Amino acid sequence: MAAKLKILFVEDVMSDAELIWHEIEKKNISFSKVLVDTIDNYLENMKDFEPDIIISDYKLPQFDGMAALLLRNKLAPLTPFILVTGSINEEVAVDFIKAGADDYILKENLSRLVPAITASINKIKLANEKKTAEDELQKSELRLQKAQFIAHVGNWELDLSSKLIWSSDEALRIYGFDKRSHEIPLELIKKSPLPEYRALLDETLDRLLKYNEPYEVEFNIMRASDGAIRSIYSKAELVVAPDGEHATIIGVIQDITDRKKNEEELIRAKVKAEESDKLKTAFLHNISHEIRTPMNAIVGFSTLLGDPEVDERSRKSYIDVIMQSSNHLLSIITDIVDISNIEANLIKTVKNEINVNKTLKYLFNQFITKTNEKQIKLVCEAGLSDPEALILTDRTKLTQILSNLINNALKFTDKGIIKVEYRLKENFLEFCVSDTGIGISPVHHERIFDRFYQVQSNVSRLYEGTGLGLAISKAYVELLGGKIWLSSEPGNGTKFFFTIPYEKGDSTTITGYEKKAPDSFVFPVKKVILVAEDIESNFKLISYFLEGSNAEVLHAINGKEAVEKCLSMGNIDLILMDIKMPVMDGYTAVKLIREKNTEIPIIAQTAYLDDRERAIECGCSGFLSKPFDKKGLFKVLGEFI
Ligand code: ADP
Repeated sequence: MAAKLKILFVEDVMSDAELIWHEIEKKNISFSKVLVDTIDNYLENMKDFEPDIIISDYKLPQFDGMAALLLRNKLAPLTPFILVTGSINEEVAVDFIKAGADDYILKENLSRLVPAITASINKIKLANEKKTAEDELQKSELRLQKAQFIAHVGNWELDLSSKLIWSSDEALRIYGFDKRSHEIPLELIKKSPLPEYRALLDETLDRLLKYNEPYEVEFNIMRASDGAIRSIYSKAELVVAPDGEHATIIGVIQDITDRKKNEEELIRAKVKAEESDKLKTAFLHNISHEIRTPMNAIVGFSTLLGDPEVDERSRKSYIDVIMQSSNHLLSIITDIVDISNIEANLIKTVKNEINVNKTLKYLFNQFITKTNEKQIKLVCEAGLSDPEALILTDRTKLTQILSNLINNALKFTDKGIIKVEYRLKENFLEFCVSDTGIGISPVHHERIFDRFYQVQSNVSRLYEGTGLGLAISKAYVELLGGKIWLSSEPGNGTKFFFTIPYEKGDSTTITGYEKKAPDSFVFPVKKVILVAEDIESNFKLISYFLEGSNAEVLHAINGKEAVEKCLSMGNIDLILMDIKMPVMDGYTAVKLIREKNTEIPIIAQTAYLDDRERAIECGCSGFLSKPFDKKGLFKVLGEFI
């Protein structure tokens, strides 16, 4: 059943009202009604009753039809209003219609009332439907705009006869045009693309018009609003009206700047990965040569040492060569371990108080023999007084950075001077290692700090090296909070600069560079040392080192034996514990010993940084870096017994 029509009657004469109701009922229209004759009542029912239609008399004692109509206009402009009156002149009727009444009916002609009601209701229904459709359209337009905004996609339409381009909000935004006008002359839009794309765009448009070939282009524009260069993708089709005459081009444009940037970054990353792969291969070729050279000397001269005919002088010189080659080999291995630790993020800095001037002196003493051999002058210049040169930084890393740079300077310089200096600059110490060597072309400056990168071709092998020194130096400088860079020209020498924060040390005394370790040592009271070591030669070496030191050396060939010996014999003073051993590793052995004995000093022999941390966690008292010499061993023993 259709809902009842709600009619608000404005009438003071009951009999007139009943006549009207009767007329409506006669036509079988089901309705509910409210009768009002005062303004207050009218207002109240406009709100509460919400009529579908208002039927009003012209004149009432306390109210009138025009007032009711004007209030309707204000409160419910879409509700039909019909004036039903005894007699009015034509002028009044016109006034009512002008003021918005939907119809007027004379009381003596009431048969017109129902058709008037039906017409008004239909009119309002249509108006409502139109409004709903318009609202929907507006919503859908807003949705489209939002979608275009999110996707950075706009649409456009070129009218080929007027040469005007209609562009959506987003299309205007992409071009950076003012949104007040959606129609833009083609000539103006043609100014946006960068000149190098003009020919391509003209040709693509031409082909679309002449041969209906697909229009799909990517180009760069200069955005009108801010001059930014943006990458654009556009695709369009030719649409000919049914008359065959009127043609438009309908297209979309998309701002693809971000996507393009990502693509470029991916390509750059790919090129870099490929280059890094090539460098790694070159490194592997190179490293085999770098390792074989000192190994060759070690093997060759060790064999010669075994010859009983060799005199004392030659023996000494052979040992020198073996020592030098071993040190060289060790430095290569250290570099490889360092770079892999850097890449695995395992490197930590340990700040200690150092005197930069002392560090320079130490380096000078280290390198002076080598520079003298090559007849190169070595100069180390302090930039601050001794008390001012006392700073907090990681001593080992700073020394290694400087050593690497001096080593390179020495390697790539044949004559002239190598200078190491530093100065205080805005809370940083700026170091400079300069040489008068072969120099480096600026084309290599950006990549020189990449791992494995070497300027000289590997084939010529004029200079030894692994291409790791500068990569390690850069990583260390950055870990210390500084930057590293260079200035160099081929043939004009090289200057490497780097900075570290100038953090003042608070000690007033100037500390020595290194605590001197004794060359050998004799324990005043006999000591028992247990060496847990699975490699026979390593155990023998330690036994030789300890010969004559008043120590009894016991051997355990794995962790399990070490635990058993330590716990069964009560007289052991110190344990030297290897970490990687068969049956039971060093970590497990230390843990088991610590369950029963928390006192005994246990020194882990380790080669890796991460081993050290774990060793301390497991209960070791200290560690000894492998490989170690006699001095290194006594230094640690001195600390614990
Ligand atoms: P390596 O010296 O072991 O090859 P580095 O990383 O220390 O590795 O140096 C990388 C490359 O930088 C060197 O192979 C060399 O080509 C160039 N280079 C470094 N320092 C200098 C220098 N002082 N003079 C000329 N070239 C240098």
